[in-house]
Amino acid sequence: MSKRDYYEVLGVGRDASERDIKKAYKRLAMKYHPDRNPGDKEAETAFKEVKEAYEILTDSDKKAAYDQFGHAGVDPNRGGGGFGGGADFGDIFGDVFGDIFGGGRRGQRQAARGSDLRYNLELSLEEAVRGLTKELRIPTLATCDVCDGSGAKAGSSATTCGTCHGAGQVQMRQGFFAVQQPCPTCHGRGKIIKDPCGKCHGEGRVEKTKTLSVKIPAGVDTGDRIRLAGEGEAGEFGAPPGDLYVQVSVREHPIFVRDGNNLYCEVPISFSKAALGGEVQVPTLDGKVSLKIPTETQTGRMFRLRGKGVKSVRSHAVGDLLCKVVVETPVNLNERQKELLREFEETLTGESRKHSPKAEGFFDGVKKFFQDLNN
Ligand SMILES: [Zn+2]
Ligand SMILES: [Zn+2]
Repeated sequence: MSKRDYYEVLGVGRDASERDIKKAYKRLAMKYHPDRNPGDKEAETAFKEVKEAYEILTDSDKKAAYDQFGHAGVDPNRGGGGFGGGADFGDIFGDVFGDIFGGGRRGQRQAARGSDLRYNLELSLEEAVRGLTKELRIPTLATCDVCDGSGAKAGSSATTCGTCHGAGQVQMRQGFFAVQQPCPTCHGRGKIIKDPCGKCHGEGRVEKTKTLSVKIPAGVDTGDRIRLAGEGEAGEFGAPPGDLYVQVSVREHPIFVRDGNNLYCEVPISFSKAALGGEVQVPTLDGKVSLKIPTETQTGRMFRLRGKGVKSVRSHAVGDLLCKVVVETPVNLNERQKELLREFEETLTGESRKHSPKAEGFFDGVKKFFQDLNN
């Protein structure tokens, strides 16, 4: 899904002042706030969109990057594995309304949930059709096992920051407005770790490559996404982990082209077999099967092998295999073979149109074309 322009989202011009942006945001945030639109997915999406636009356009660095490069300039996915962290409505509410009405947020800052991770998994067509169990090696942040995520050395513990009293933010007055800023003492964490854990250096998380065994269901296709709840990055200081999304893409196959649950392939046949009929072996994903070619088969004719396609990952439906026969002109003929063909051609003389259904229609069409020209 392509993103809408942030100015458009807020309904303001590119030269809008910060005040105008805040005003527009306040109006839209109130309109779409989930508390006012319970269970309304569209309102929720609109709310997130409005929030994102506001956050970018009121941050002078991000706004400058956005004005110059568009969404690419402020893409949160850039350079990191995380993407699309869920918006926390309580947090948003505090930010906006605290900001505008001068009210402060109360209470302790909540440690952030871990980021979601994305893993791009490339499969062969056979693997995608049959399903398999894959071992994935995923670089991630895991909860530190020495301090159990607290960030504090054994025997000590984190203390609540005295500057912000655990809120992680402090209020500064800027003229008329009271503005929230990250606490300079604890850098927004709300906690002070005097004696940090030796392994994670007070972060509570450590970089780690974990190995996961993931079951890929039969029938997946490019664009399918498998969510593994809780397998993303560990949260801050014991907060819940994010999720891992396995994004599937299927490599091109030398013989088959997949279209939904159907498979499609081209089968070359000789022109004598096309004329006389016979059998050809066609490939399927379960091995070869015999396909009966009726007499007088024309090139391009499509044959459907029912149930030889792909089993849907979402239902029990099974697709078909569509085989298009392509009649080949023989090459590398020896003298004897050429002689036979010349002989054959002579037998057609005078009545060639009787034996060539396409030509009949074609020459009739040409004749009519010239007649129309002359009239
Ligand atoms: Zn630690
Ligand atoms: Zn603080």
